[in-house]
Amino acid sequence: MALRSNSSTSRESSEKITIQNVSRSYESTQALADVSFSVAEGEFCCVVGPSGCGKTTLLRAIAGLDDPDSGSVLVDGNPVSDPGLDRGMVFQEYALFPWRTVRGNIRFGLDRPACDCADCEARVRELIDLVGLEGFEDAYPKELSGGMKQRVGIARALAVDPEILLMDEPFGSVDARTRDRLHSELIDIWTQTEQTVVFITHDIDEAVTLADHVVVMDADPGTVQSTFSINLERPRERTSPDFVDLVAQIRDELGSPVETTV
Ligand code: ADP
Ligand code: MG
Repeated sequence: MALRSNSSTSRESSEKITIQNVSRSYESTQALADVSFSVAEGEFCCVVGPSGCGKTTLLRAIAGLDDPDSGSVLVDGNPVSDPGLDRGMVFQEYALFPWRTVRGNIRFGLDRPACDCADCEARVRELIDLVGLEGFEDAYPKELSGGMKQRVGIARALAVDPEILLMDEPFGSVDARTRDRLHSELIDIWTQTEQTVVFITHDIDEAVTLADHVVVMDADPGTVQSTFSINLERPRERTSPDFVDLVAQIRDELGSPVETTV
């Protein structure tokens, strides 16, 4: 899956993220066992699998927030050891600062969060526009819906214009209609920014809606079971025969009841 095969884009492809034989155990639990796959530059990769199969552990390893016991994670061929500005992360449960406004939370993603120079102000304004939160600049997280909170999380992760966007089940807590809207907004942002995205989900429909490639994981221990190329034009029609067929193939592969949105 190093080569991007999606005909809907003409971006050049090269390997951006390489996961090589990564294993990670927590006491008696083997969260990841010999996991290997790669993500091409500019690719939208979804990782799908049941709860507990090591998806968050894997994303944290790519983010440099957790060290594998063995194996390596490479970005641009260089081993990852720490978090870096080249990788932005969107967390599952928003992880916003409740005492900061929308503007304050987004500003926190900047290299210099305390800076109020014209450039930083302009960047915050640009991010607010990008995620459609105009008019809510001074709102606090408790005043926002789940979808709006996750827009703030996305804007914060995008603040330093990272080359890689890591997203851990970001839309798991929002209602289905909002999720549909966020999907198309995310694809628009990805098209504009040309970032490499690793998006974790346990929802097969979501994975097939968004991804160029889907990595299917299995649990106990967490392993890569297979990968699927999603060569469908965007925006994708969930009722199209090809879409339905891919969802069915992935569901068969998982062989266990994983949630879907239909
Ligand atoms: P997923 O995101 O796919 O649900 P996780 O990566 O969160 O999976 O977890 C994989 C496995 O590792 C699970 O069995 C989980 O209970 C275990 N695990 C994750 N983090 C820890 C931790 N900090 N301490 C102990 N066990 C953990
Ligand atoms: Mg998780």
